[in-house]
Amino acid sequence: MKRLTALAVVLLVCMTLDSVAQAEPMDALTLRQGDVRIVKLADDAKVSDLQGVIDTGGVPSAIPMFSKGGALYGIVAVDLYQQPGEYQMTVYEAATKRALSAKALIVKQGEFEKSISPSWNAHVFTKPELERIASEKQAMAEALRTSSSQPLWQDGTIYPIEKTDHTGLITTPFGQIRMNPAQDWFRFHRGTDFQAPKGFPIRAIATGKVAHLGHDYLLEGNITVIDHGLGIFSSYLHQSSFLVKIGDEVKKGDVIGRVGSTGNSNAPHLHLALKIGGAVVDPLQFIEALRGL
Ligand SMILES: [Zn+2]
Repeated sequence: MKRLTALAVVLLVCMTLDSVAQAEPMDALTLRQGDVRIVKLADDAKVSDLQGVIDTGGVPSAIPMFSKGGALYGIVAVDLYQQPGEYQMTVYEAATKRALSAKALIVKQGEFEKSISPSWNAHVFTKPELERIASEKQAMAEALRTSSSQPLWQDGTIYPIEKTDHTGLITTPFGQIRMNPAQDWFRFHRGTDFQAPKGFPIRAIATGKVAHLGHDYLLEGNITVIDHGLGIFSSYLHQSSFLVKIGDEVKKGDVIGRVGSTGNSNAPHLHLALKIGGAVVDPLQFIEALRGL
């Protein structure tokens, strides 16, 4: 007990619940929609000692935690669609469920590029197409329901497309707002697009296990979903071919498929998407944050 009391001093920059009760200003973490941030939770603790939770008004979501060099870290993720506002993160002692520390999570509006494209996605889906999209979404949601209880990404991250003179360039960033003024319609870009020709190898951004393969989905085309543990999933869209099977264990950097233009795509490229505890987040922030640890 004594050791955990000492831990609370370190947790989330020294904010204990006692001091919150004294109405002192809470130290806060400010993030934008779609952001991913690594937060040090304790200098000397095991993953099994603590539980971190973000409460945004709905079902509180668990903060994925991992150990590195004896310290304990959490991955704080803000959904692209999270309403801006002030929320709370709390760290509990796992054994007793006693709250050890709390900190405000301030979510600001994302500052995303806007692209106006009168012709983009002017296609009106038929009823059978809409039904197909719904059942494909359902199949993906099913696959994301279970995740490994271990953090599998511990050996870091890598970019999915090797950088060369003609590959690896980001053609559409995460969050870009695509607008069609004629239809009074817009949509956020829910991933990051990488330039690459058809057939170029796609690499797993981190170690994990293949959770889902979608064959020729109407929007995603051929899609591979990899479970990295603790509710973290990466998805690779529009592939021309698959190189893994469901249940395969893949290492960071393994080639899992080939670039294509299947599904809702105009030219060969890779669309990489990342979900953390159900939150749609910027994949590049995840890759960069875990490369640096
Ligand atoms: Zn895309």
